[in-house]
Amino acid sequence: MFNALLVTKDDDGKTSAAVTQMNLDQLPGGDVTVAVEYSTVNYKDGLCIGPGGGLVRNYPHIPGIDFAGTVEASDDPRYKAGDKVVLTGWRVGEAHWGGYAQKARVKADWLVPLPSGLDTRQAMAVGTAGFTAMLSVMALEDHGIKGGPILVTGAAGGVGSVATAILANLGHEVAGVTGRPETADYLTSLGATQIVAREEINETVKRPLEGETWGGCVDAVGGEMLARVLGQMQYGASVAAVGLAGGAGLPATVIPFLLRGVNLLGIDSVMQPYDNRLRAWERIARDLPMDKLEAMIQPAKLDDLPQLGRDILNGQVKGRVVVDVNA
Ligand code: NDP
Repeated sequence: MFNALLVTKDDDGKTSAAVTQMNLDQLPGGDVTVAVEYSTVNYKDGLCIGPGGGLVRNYPHIPGIDFAGTVEASDDPRYKAGDKVVLTGWRVGEAHWGGYAQKARVKADWLVPLPSGLDTRQAMAVGTAGFTAMLSVMALEDHGIKGGPILVTGAAGGVGSVATAILANLGHEVAGVTGRPETADYLTSLGATQIVAREEINETVKRPLEGETWGGCVDAVGGEMLARVLGQMQYGASVAAVGLAGGAGLPATVIPFLLRGVNLLGIDSVMQPYDNRLRAWERIARDLPMDKLEAMIQPAKLDDLPQLGRDILNGQVKGRVVVDVNA
C-alpha cells in the first residue's frame, strides 16, 4: 500500500481531493515503476487539484505534473531498479496519474536520468517551472540576447524565480516584475538588480511602441503584461512567452514585430524531445547556483496540497514548493 493525493468527482461533477491509501495494482500501465521521493506545485497542479480545472482527463486522478525518485521495477533496458530519475511533461498529472503519490508508473520515454550534480530534492526544487525557465533562457540565447536588462515577469513565482537566478548567474542584468513589493529582498538575493512594480508595466501609457528598454524577456504572465512588454523591447530582442498567470488574452498590436523586429518565442515544456530535456537538465545543473535554489524552497507534504493548489492559482506562492511525498 502507498499514499496518494486522489482527486475524485461525484455525480454532481463536484471534485474533492484527499490523501488515500492505494495499492500498486491500481496504478496505470507503463514500463517503469518509480518510488517517488519529491514532487512540486506548479500552476497547472493548482488547476488539476481544484474544481473544474479542465486539464484532468480522467477521474479519479492523481495530480502532480512532475516528480523525482528511484526506479523500483523496469521493463525497459534503459532503466534498472535503483536508478534515480526525473519526470516533467507528457501530460503526466493531467491525462496519466502523476507525482502526488509514493509510487508512479509511467512510460520509460517520459523519464530522464537524474543529472549529475542534483539530488532528487534539488531536481524537484527546479521541477517543471525551473525546467521551463531554463528552456526560456536557452531560447533567448538561440535568438541573441541584447545588451541591457532582461525582464522577468511574475518574478517571485516559480518560473520567474528560477529564470532570475539563472540569468543573473550567467552575468546578465535582470529586472524582476512583481506585484508583491515585499518580495524585493528575495528577488535581489536571487540576483535581480532592478525591481519593477507590476503597475509600472501594466499602467504605462498604452502606446504600441514605448522606449527600447529590455534586451530580452522571460514572461510567465501573458495578457496585458505581455502586450505592454512587447512595445518596450529593444530592436530585434526576444520575449520567451511561458505562461498566462495574468490572462490568456493578448491585447497587443503587430507594430513591435513590424517596426522593431521583436521575436515572440513560444515555450512548451510538455512535449520536449529527450535530447532537449537532457540538455536543459545539464544546463540547470551547471548554471543554477544551488544556494539560490535553496532560498526558493517552501517544503510541503501531501496533506498540504489542497491549500497550496488554491494558493498558486491566487499568485500567493513564492519560489518553489517541494512536496516530500513520504513526509
Ligand atoms: P506561479 O504562480 O509560481 O508564478 C506566477 C507569478 O505570476 C505569480 O507568482 C505572480 O508573480 C505573477 N502573477 C500572478 N497573477 C498575476 C496577474 N493577475 N497579473 C500579473 N502577474 C501575476 O506559477 P509558475 O511560475 O509555476 O507558472 C507561471 C505560468 O507559466 C503559469 O501560467 C503556468 O501555467 C505557466 N507554465 C508554462 C509552462 C510551459 O511549458 N509553457 C511550464 C510551467 C509553467 P509576482 O507576485 O512576482 O507578481
